[in-house]
Amino acid sequence: MFNRRSEQITKRLMLSMLIIIISFLSISIPLIINSFFEYQKTQRTLMEINSLSIVADLANKISRERGPSNVAMSSAAKDKQKNIQELVKYRQTVDSQIEFTLNTFQRTGATTLADELKLHVVPSLIQGRQAVDQYLSMQQNQRNAHDYDHAIQSMFSAWDQAYSLLKNVVMQAKNKQGDVANYYTLTLVLADLRDQAGRVASNIMAYVSYQQPLPSNNIAQALQTQKQVNYLWYLVNAIQFENYKTPEFEQRYQLVKTQFIDQGIPIIIQLIDENNRGVSYHLTGVELSYAVSDKFSTVIDLQKYLLNQSIEVAQKQAFKAQQKLILVSLISMISLFAALFTMIYAQKRVFSPLIHARDKILELIQHYDIDTEKEQKLMTSHSLNEAVDRLSNMLNQRAEFEFQLKNMANTDSLTGVSNRLALENYLDTMAINPSQFLQLGLIMVDIDNFKTVNDHYGHIVGDCVIEQVANTVQRSVKNADLIVRFGGDEFLVLVQGQPLAQLLTLAEQIRFAIAALKISIPDTDKSIHISVSLGVAVGASSWNELFMQADQSLFRAKAQGKNVVHG
Ligand code: GH3
Ligand code: MG
Repeated sequence: MFNRRSEQITKRLMLSMLIIIISFLSISIPLIINSFFEYQKTQRTLMEINSLSIVADLANKISRERGPSNVAMSSAAKDKQKNIQELVKYRQTVDSQIEFTLNTFQRTGATTLADELKLHVVPSLIQGRQAVDQYLSMQQNQRNAHDYDHAIQSMFSAWDQAYSLLKNVVMQAKNKQGDVANYYTLTLVLADLRDQAGRVASNIMAYVSYQQPLPSNNIAQALQTQKQVNYLWYLVNAIQFENYKTPEFEQRYQLVKTQFIDQGIPIIIQLIDENNRGVSYHLTGVELSYAVSDKFSTVIDLQKYLLNQSIEVAQKQAFKAQQKLILVSLISMISLFAALFTMIYAQKRVFSPLIHARDKILELIQHYDIDTEKEQKLMTSHSLNEAVDRLSNMLNQRAEFEFQLKNMANTDSLTGVSNRLALENYLDTMAINPSQFLQLGLIMVDIDNFKTVNDHYGHIVGDCVIEQVANTVQRSVKNADLIVRFGGDEFLVLVQGQPLAQLLTLAEQIRFAIAALKISIPDTDKSIHISVSLGVAVGASSWNELFMQADQSLFRAKAQGKNVVHG
C-alpha cells in the first residue's frame, strides 16, 4: 500500500520534472531555431553578395570589351594585327569570367540566372563580337563610319543584357535588408555609371575615327548619356550611408570625380564642340579609346571597393550570427543540464528521503494504530505533514499514558498519596548525596487502635478512615517533599530543611486536625472520632538511622498513651 502510494508520488515528481523540462525547451528551442535562421540568413546574404560581386565584375568586363574592340576597329593598318591580338586576349578574360559566373550560379542553385546568362547575355555578346569581327574583316576601303557605329552599337546590347542580369541578381537576392542593402543599389548605380560613361565616348567613336561630322542622333545620345552620368554620379553620393564613407571611400570617390567626371567627360564635350565648330577632332579613334578607358577604371575601382566592403559587412554579420547561435545553444544546453541535475539531485537527496521517511512514519503509525477507520484514512493520506502530525499526536498520547502509568505505579490506590515505590525512588536520588539526610525531617503517623475500627465497623469503614487520615495529612502539610502510605495505617511525611521544633509543630497540627475529624459511618447516623500518634526525627547520616529514630519516637508516643507527638 505504501509502496504504491510512494510510486504515485514519484510519478508526480517525474511529471513535474517533465513539465519543467518541456517549459524550458519551449523557450530555448524557439530561441535556438531563431538564431539558426538568422545565421542561415547571414550566410545567404554572404553568398548573394558574392554572386553580385561576380556578376558586377562580368558586366564591367563585357562593358570594357568595347575598349579593345574600338581600338582594334579604329587602328591604323600597321597596328591592326597587334590590336586584334589584344582584343582576342581580352575576350578570353571575358569568357573565363562568363565561365566562372556560370559555375557560381550552378553551384548556388541560381538556375534562372544561369539560364539568363546562357540564353541572353552570351548570345548577344556573340552577336556583338560577330558585328565587330565582320567590321574587322572588311577591307579598309570598304569600311565606313556607319558600319563602325553599327558594330559599336551591337556591343552595347551585350552590355544591356549583362546589366539586366545584374539587376536580376539584385531582384532575386532575398536578404537585401540590413547593413548590406545600399551596396546592392550602389553596385547597380556604379555599373550603370561606368557603362553610360562608356557610351558617351562610344556614341561619337565611329565618326571621330573617320574624322566625319557627327550625326545629330549620335550627338543627342552622347549628350543624353552625359546627363545620365551626372545624375548617376549625384546618386552615388546620395545613396552611400555616412557611416560607410570611410577615408578610402572618400579617396576613391575623389579619384572618380577628378579623373572621370572632371577630365574624362570634358574630352567628349570638347570633341562634340569641335564637331559643332567644324574643326578637325583633336583625337583619333584609338587615342579617344585610350584617353577615356583609364578614366573609367576609377569607377570600377570604386565599385570593387564597395563590393569588397559589403562582403566584409556581410562576413561580420555572419560571424556575429554564428557566435549568437553558438552562445544561445551553449547557454540553453548548460541551463538544461543544470535544471536536470538539480531535479535529479532534489529527487535523490530531498524527495526520496522524504518519501522514505513518510513511509516509515506511516508504517509506525499503522503498527500502533488499530482503529480501522483511522487506518483507512492513513492509507489514503499521502502528505508527509499529515503523517508527521499523526505520529506527533500518537507520541503525545503515548507520553501521557506513560506519565499516568508512572503515576499509578508511584501512588497508593486507596489514598492517592505516594506509595513505597515512590519512597524508594526518592531515597535512591537522595542516596547519591547522603549528606542530604542531615537536613531531612521525618514524621511518622500511625492511627491509634485501628484494629478496633476494623473490628467494630468493618474494613470498608476502616478504608474510609485511612482515606480521611491521608487527606487530612495532605491538607495539613503543604511543604512536604513526600507523603507516603508506608503500611496499613501508617504514613510518613518527609520534609527538607526544617528544624525539629518546626516539625514538632507540624506534627502537632496533624494530630490536632485528625483528632478533630468526625467520621460518619455509612448507612447509619453514627460517627466516630479517631486519633493518631506521631514520632518525629530530624537529621541522620542515613535513611535507616533517621527511620529508626522516628520509629522509636512513635513507639514512645504510643507508650505515652497515644494521641501524642514525640520527637
Ligand atoms: P496501635 O494503636 O498500637 O497502632 O494499634 P492498632 O490497632 O492500630 O494496631 P496496628 O497498627 O498493628 O494494626 C493495623 C491494622 O490495620 C492491622 C490490619 O488489619 C489493618 N489494616 C492494614 N491495612 C488495612 C487496610 O488497607 N484497610 C483496613 N480496613 N485495614 C487495614
Ligand atoms: Mg495503628
